Amino acid sequence: MNPKKILITGGAGFIGSAVIRHIINDTEHVAINVDKLTYAGNLESLKPIENNDRYSFEKVDICDTTEIKRVFSAHNPDIVLHLAAESHVDRSIDGPGEFIQTNIVGTYVLLEQAKDYWLNLKGSKKDNFKFHHVSTDEVYGDLEGTDDLFTEQTSYAPSSPYSAAKASSDHLVRAWHRTFGLPTLITNCSNNYGPYQFPEKLIPLIILNALEGKGLPIYGNGKQIRDWLYVDDHAIALLHVALNGKAGENYNIGGHNEIQNIEVVKTVCEILDELSPNSVAGVNKYEELIKHVADRAGHDKRYAIDASKIDNELSWTPNETFETGVRKTVQWYLDNKVWCNHVQDGSYQRERLGNL
Ligand code: NAD
Repeated sequence: MNPKKILITGGAGFIGSAVIRHIINDTEHVAINVDKLTYAGNLESLKPIENNDRYSFEKVDICDTTEIKRVFSAHNPDIVLHLAAESHVDRSIDGPGEFIQTNIVGTYVLLEQAKDYWLNLKGSKKDNFKFHHVSTDEVYGDLEGTDDLFTEQTSYAPSSPYSAAKASSDHLVRAWHRTFGLPTLITNCSNNYGPYQFPEKLIPLIILNALEGKGLPIYGNGKQIRDWLYVDDHAIALLHVALNGKAGENYNIGGHNEIQNIEVVKTVCEILDELSPNSVAGVNKYEELIKHVADRAGHDKRYAIDASKIDNELSWTPNETFETGVRKTVQWYLDNKVWCNHVQDGSYQRERLGNL
């Protein structure tokens, strides 16, 4: 195999760090991590591989044209895997500005610099260059019924400032392919969960709150349906698409695990009852801590992915079921309290996901 130099933006985040650990642990490729280190970026998530010769880190904002130009010429990548983004819907409702800046302007800066870099490449290095943009199923908006699935042909109808900014960035990527011929790929993935996820997202928030005897906040009736994918399955899919996907194409990535939020929370509670029983005085079952809070503004009811294209064309399917993945995840959070304490620097106290 011919090892590739892969430039990953957002590599200190939840999914980006899983991609880098996969590249370093399971392949011969080189990983260059470009990350600004916002509240969501944590180099501790890369501790297991940080001393590997095939890994390097650049603390750079993707909106900084001069720095991104320097990074391209310093590292000569074969592939760009673009994950850097503001990613939390609740934060996009509180303050959309950063989402417009990083998700739209940052993607524009990267596309322009990638295009200039690619146009100056020669031979097979130019022919094989790929710009892979990592996006979300939230760009498709809401599914009303119980049978519909998001396919690659579903029209975009984003609901939140987060998904609108991601949809905008997807459109830019498509335009840079169509207009300038840049060899781009787009993947739209469902909800990820797993180790190293910042504890503002549902599953880690529930685990950590439960262990401390705090309330487990559920938006509205909790019947919102998401399609859950274990993060290491997503990481494998992303590298696979980056290496084997056809330029100009988009691929949906999903876990075939459509579950209501309330069921996710109850499952986490049941696993905790088994793995860490009686850790809170006066609480027999962690489920007793569940509290319904006012629903999120504009909350989408159901997302569900049709992942048959990536299965048929690139032979990718997930390895984990929700049952196996969520058990590993709960165990990981029980085993990694130090990581959890370090990533919460004091400014964030798990107050999001509704007010108790
Ligand atoms: P995350 O919030 O955990 O990580 C984002 C990373 O980007 C952080 O390391 C942060 O420091 C970095 N970053 C933010 N702004 C930056 C900037 N201006 N310049 C450089 N780096 C910057 O996000 P995640 O959950 O790992 O998601 C990664 C990507 O995958 C995002 O593009 C997101 O839209 C997409 N996605 C996420 C999910 C999910 O369930 N988490 C699902 C589908 C798609």
